[in-house]
Amino acid sequence: MARYIKPLCKICRKYGEKLYLKGKRCETDKCPLDPRRKKIRIIRRKETSEYGRQLREKNKVKIFYGVLERQFKRYFEMAKKMKGTTGEILLQLLERRLDNVVYKLNFAHSRRMARQIVSHGGILVNGKKVDRPGYLVEVGDVISVKPNSRHEKLVRKCLEEREDKLIPAWLALDKEKLEGRVLRFPTREEVSIQVDEQLIVNYYSK
Ligand code: ZN
Repeated sequence: MARYIKPLCKICRKYGEKLYLKGKRCETDKCPLDPRRKKIRIIRRKETSEYGRQLREKNKVKIFYGVLERQFKRYFEMAKKMKGTTGEILLQLLERRLDNVVYKLNFAHSRRMARQIVSHGGILVNGKKVDRPGYLVEVGDVISVKPNSRHEKLVRKCLEEREDKLIPAWLALDKEKLEGRVLRFPTREEVSIQVDEQLIVNYYSK
């Protein structure tokens, strides 16, 4: 998926934050934002207009979850119609994307890789193939890997390599069965990215 052509950790530098777009690279000191590096150089923008900050925050979250503008706007419209704080619901919807869940279960090294596994038919939800990375998981959903597929091998290897990465408390994982379960929806504190979501809400509320 050549959605972003820039070397991915350049995007980390641009937003001043590790975005884990490619996974492994961000986890090493090759990422310019890695604290193990002596000098962390962040490109600071001169523009500090309210609009500029809103736009930047929106784009950061969009890139982080790998969704396009049209989809992102749709999540916002959905969130607006749902009960609760729009910004929080928006982030919760993004976290509930199947590609994010597959990544969070440590089935893949990045959301991008997770997206590929899903769209190639490697993931089952409640026993049925779901190849839409944007599928929104529900409480109780069981996410598994297509048995005896090339994906099964890949996922097992990933799980091993990511052994030290914790699974969030809203998900449960059975490593042997390669099966994850959605216990509840993530809370605001469990959202994977540092973000001021109010900026995004204001961006779309003009
Ligand atoms: Zn990086």
